[in-house]
Amino acid sequence: MRFDVFSLFPEVFDSYLSTSILQRAQDAQALEVHTHNIRDWTSDKHHTTDDTPYGGGGGMVMKPEPVFAAVEGVLGAPPCCPVILLSPQGRLFNQKVAFKLAQYDRLALLCGRYESVDERIRQYLATDVISIGDYVLTGGELPALVIIDAVARLLPGVLGDPGAAQNDSHATGLLEYPHYTRPPEFRSWGIPEVLLSGNHGQIKCWRRQESLRRTFQHRPDMLTNADLSQEDLAFLETLGYKPNAQHTPPTYQE
Ligand code: SAH
Repeated sequence: MRFDVFSLFPEVFDSYLSTSILQRAQDAQALEVHTHNIRDWTSDKHHTTDDTPYGGGGGMVMKPEPVFAAVEGVLGAPPCCPVILLSPQGRLFNQKVAFKLAQYDRLALLCGRYESVDERIRQYLATDVISIGDYVLTGGELPALVIIDAVARLLPGVLGDPGAAQNDSHATGLLEYPHYTRPPEFRSWGIPEVLLSGNHGQIKCWRRQESLRRTFQHRPDMLTNADLSQEDLAFLETLGYKPNAQHTPPTYQE
């Protein structure tokens, strides 16, 4: 899969993309990331990429000409693949969206900076607008990396264990069970006996129950859409879960 990323600060991608699993994914030719500096597509002497907003007020707005020139220069006009604008105003990114995006061979990610991009970029160039959460960052580069990372680990051959992504939190509609590794005792803290038993049936059952338990404790809202067996429901009811009641996630004090 190929990503083309358009940014005013393409250098911020290098170190993250050349680390661990993402570097290996590129070495294995499962993933390609091409970054493009929007500034290279300016045509004026000062390489201007932003300007003051019409109507006044503070902040700078990214100009349309270099962004259109960059995207169309690389992808053609109209662009040969979806162009995703990163924006806190977009549809919310989640694991389902990651699975959908992982089906494309090629995607373009467009990173804003400053106050925003000129609205005509959203209207006439972007084919999708995605937010990574309800908070505002200084630029779209981290959101682009979040999307590349979440999508890349779903591509065939990227994770060492091909089944791993299927069991992840959010992939199954539940949070994943807890993990332990050696040593079996650390600072007098042990690990659940069952994990040392070698009994795969019991381990599977324990993992399922722990997955249900944490989802109920931390994200009971997720249980409404989870695929639950009669056995799962019976276990959840021992924890106080009521199938038709509204269960809301715990709120944390500010
Ligand atoms: N004034 C804008 C926010 C600008 S933030 C508004 O209120 O909508 C500057 C840039 O950072 C945006 O253009 C976008 O590309 C990126 N950005 C900030 N927060 C983001 C988020 N939660 N998800 C995706 N992109 C985000």
